[in-house]
Amino acid sequence: MLKPILAAALLVSTAPAAAQTNAALARIDADRAANEAAAKAIWGFAEVGYQEARSSALLQKRLKDAGFEVKAGVASAPTAFTATWASGTGPVIGIMGEYDALPGLSQTADPAKTVRADAAAGHGCGHHLFGVASASAAIAVKDWMKATGTKGTIRFYGTPAEEGGAGKVYMVREGLFNDVDIALHWHPAAENSADIATTNSNKSAKFRFRGISAHAAGAPERGRSALDGVEAMNMMANMMHEHMPEQSRMHYVITAGGNAPNVVPDFAESFYYVRNPDAEVVRETFERLVKTAEGAALGTGTTVDYEVIHGALPLLPNRTLQTLVHAKLSEVGGVLYTAEDTAFAQKIIPTLGQTKATLSDAALVKPIAESHGAGSTDVGDVSWTVPTAGFSTATWVPGTAAHSWQAVAAGGNAIGMKGMQNAAKVLALTAIDLLQTPELIAAAKAEFEARRGPGFTYRSLVGDRTPPLDYRNAPAR
Ligand SMILES: [Zn+2]
Ligand SMILES: [Zn+2]
Repeated sequence: MLKPILAAALLVSTAPAAAQTNAALARIDADRAANEAAAKAIWGFAEVGYQEARSSALLQKRLKDAGFEVKAGVASAPTAFTATWASGTGPVIGIMGEYDALPGLSQTADPAKTVRADAAAGHGCGHHLFGVASASAAIAVKDWMKATGTKGTIRFYGTPAEEGGAGKVYMVREGLFNDVDIALHWHPAAENSADIATTNSNKSAKFRFRGISAHAAGAPERGRSALDGVEAMNMMANMMHEHMPEQSRMHYVITAGGNAPNVVPDFAESFYYVRNPDAEVVRETFERLVKTAEGAALGTGTTVDYEVIHGALPLLPNRTLQTLVHAKLSEVGGVLYTAEDTAFAQKIIPTLGQTKATLSDAALVKPIAESHGAGSTDVGDVSWTVPTAGFSTATWVPGTAAHSWQAVAAGGNAIGMKGMQNAAKVLALTAIDLLQTPELIAAAKAEFEARRGPGFTYRSLVGDRTPPLDYRNAPAR
């Protein structure tokens, strides 16, 4: 007779819990208008890395008003913050939120390439949705903890400058994740997925060449062109490209190349990224890249120095956590289009170039799989510090590439907002499950330790530099 009694007791005890979980989802639904207004405001601000003052303040206020304790300006970054709500001793769940925009991606919310008059940057990576969904989830989880009397801590991490500024790296280095049991993140995308995913590790630097100015026609023999240094380095780096390990990526832009053809430039600057799935390969390749800069300076009679701007470790996946997240994503489902959304998407599709995606993909959740993304994220450093899980929702029209005007446009529209709401729900459901299931946290930690291997010590790719608060400014000479 024991078994039926137990079963009945279980039913009795889980029924209110299920109702409370539904209440958490209802809270996110109730917050929809506020979430959309916040996301649209941050989309409008379009603030680039470490300059996200208004975006950060908006999210801080939201969390403070909801009863979270906010610590602003952490890790020597004015726009980084944590917001914590705690109730006794229990698991500590961290939810990350981003809010930086991308330079050069100014775009209106129209389904045609149209530059905004009032902004030079744009949310081509959807971080305006990222920050708001994560904050909304943290608030819903806090409400659920309060209603159910669940012990533990929910903490929102306001992480600036993901795009090349590695804000999270400084927060990791500062020890801000040290007491966290599980860290969660998500990312706007053109599909709904929760893969057991890795990314490329990444290291960047600005190479600054200095030469001698002279009249380019009247006294060229007296000049030494800093631009020659940049060009010679680029040529050698492009040759080196052929001799890099498989899966490596390297790309650059010239951020300063002189001002007038008749003045030999005495200053020029290039900005390089080096990527590979293995952080050690990135370290080695970067050292080879530095040799091309030194060789270029030697041959052109210029001098060069460099500043490491950012670095990110590859994502360390966690199958235990991804299985949970995938189940929650499947529960929430994909993004459902209205006739209006479909009309918007049908205008975007012909502009996307080659893609196998179809509109109906937005409503689907991809089966869980192991995958590798060639991009990089500073979540990587968090994932080597604490077991971390993530997922993506279809905030963009299927087939859209990140960092495109099409991503900015969809992110400012209903499609982006729907993906954001779904993401908030997946985050909240995952956190609620973790807070109730210590054995799940223990299993995730065991897998994390096994994947890191014995004797692991965290070593950031940025070394001991401080956050590059001015990396989006015009070149410093
Ligand atoms: Zn991005
Ligand atoms: Zn991003």
